Amino acid sequence: MKKDLKNAKTKLAKEIDNLSDEMREIANSIFDNPETCYTENFAASLLTSKLKERGFAVESPYLGLSTAFIAKNAKIIKSKPIIAILAEYDALPGIGHACGHNLIAASAFGAAVALKNVLHPELGNVVTIGTPAEEGGGGKIKMIRRGAFSDIDAAIMIHPSNKTRIISRMYAITELKFTFIGKAAHAAAFPEQGINALDAGVLCYNSISSLRQQIRGNSRVHGIFTYGGDAPNIIPDRIEMHYFVRDLDKKHSEELLKRIKQCAKGAAKATGCKVKIKTCGNSYDPFYPSYPMGEAFADNLAILGIADGGFSETTEIGSSDIGNLSQVVPTLHPEYAVGDKEDINHSRNFLAAVKTQSGHKAMLEMTKAMAMTVYDLLTNHALLKRTKDNFNQSTH
Ligand SMILES: [Zn+2]
Ligand SMILES: [Zn+2]
Repeated sequence: MKKDLKNAKTKLAKEIDNLSDEMREIANSIFDNPETCYTENFAASLLTSKLKERGFAVESPYLGLSTAFIAKNAKIIKSKPIIAILAEYDALPGIGHACGHNLIAASAFGAAVALKNVLHPELGNVVTIGTPAEEGGGGKIKMIRRGAFSDIDAAIMIHPSNKTRIISRMYAITELKFTFIGKAAHAAAFPEQGINALDAGVLCYNSISSLRQQIRGNSRVHGIFTYGGDAPNIIPDRIEMHYFVRDLDKKHSEELLKRIKQCAKGAAKATGCKVKIKTCGNSYDPFYPSYPMGEAFADNLAILGIADGGFSETTEIGSSDIGNLSQVVPTLHPEYAVGDKEDINHSRNFLAAVKTQSGHKAMLEMTKAMAMTVYDLLTNHALLKRTKDNFNQSTH
């Protein structure tokens, strides 16, 4: 490694060590004030005021979203690349910060400040983008549609997890609601006059369960009955079901959706019911990680003496709006362990792990690797070119 680059990376790591207390304070304050989906007022105002104190040019609300923001390290130089560091800070309903987004916010702050202090502004632009409502609200999807990422060359964020892994894939997800409509009748006196919507729902459920034997290993289909009738002596004239359909591949996801819908239509036909099929919630695209960015991140972890954990198995993943972002901009979303392997996101144990000293230390080290990777992207033109070429080849 060239001496200048080595010096810059050493400085970045030192800056982040110096920010450790402030980052812990940010993480803990957001942890103690959990806010869900689009109501992250405390977190957004804490982060934006801290960034303003450090001399960032901050815009918040951003693009009409009251809890989104953008913070620029310096005046944007159009001829230079722009790298985005993403901050999530929403909590889960009920359980709070059991996905550790409070740590994501603190790491974005730490990396942004360290880069502002070390990177010569003429080398390139770093923007920190606050993206609300990852947990079900699809904040990044709205922000993509409103042009938040149209000038961005690459985006990065780090996420606490049960394992450390730089590269992982995530499922595309589509939510479907089925409503079967039949005809109510007295279940004992006039059964022949009824059209049983619950039977249609059960047939639909079983058809999808059978279909599951014939779908790709990279697909997941899971659903529940959300309404199944009012009383055993009334033939149900309406029932409702809610399904998640997931696939690692966007094209296959569309094919799978067609087959799932056929199961519902077939069940309606068999029972004489009608079925309404509605797409609801947010449809998340599959996440395609940037491999060149991942390699740079791995090199930086090696400098810090951390093993990267490699490629994740597809059985251990969910879906996120970062998937949609990865379809429009080269994106990296490394994960890092904050507790035991068994302590998985959204659990009570994970909630506890997020607040530990060891969790904080892991966040600090990964923040260093993130800042170093942003520095690489801005100063190593061959890396940025490789990142863009790989993105153009691997997505549409
Ligand atoms: Zn989560
Ligand atoms: Zn999360």
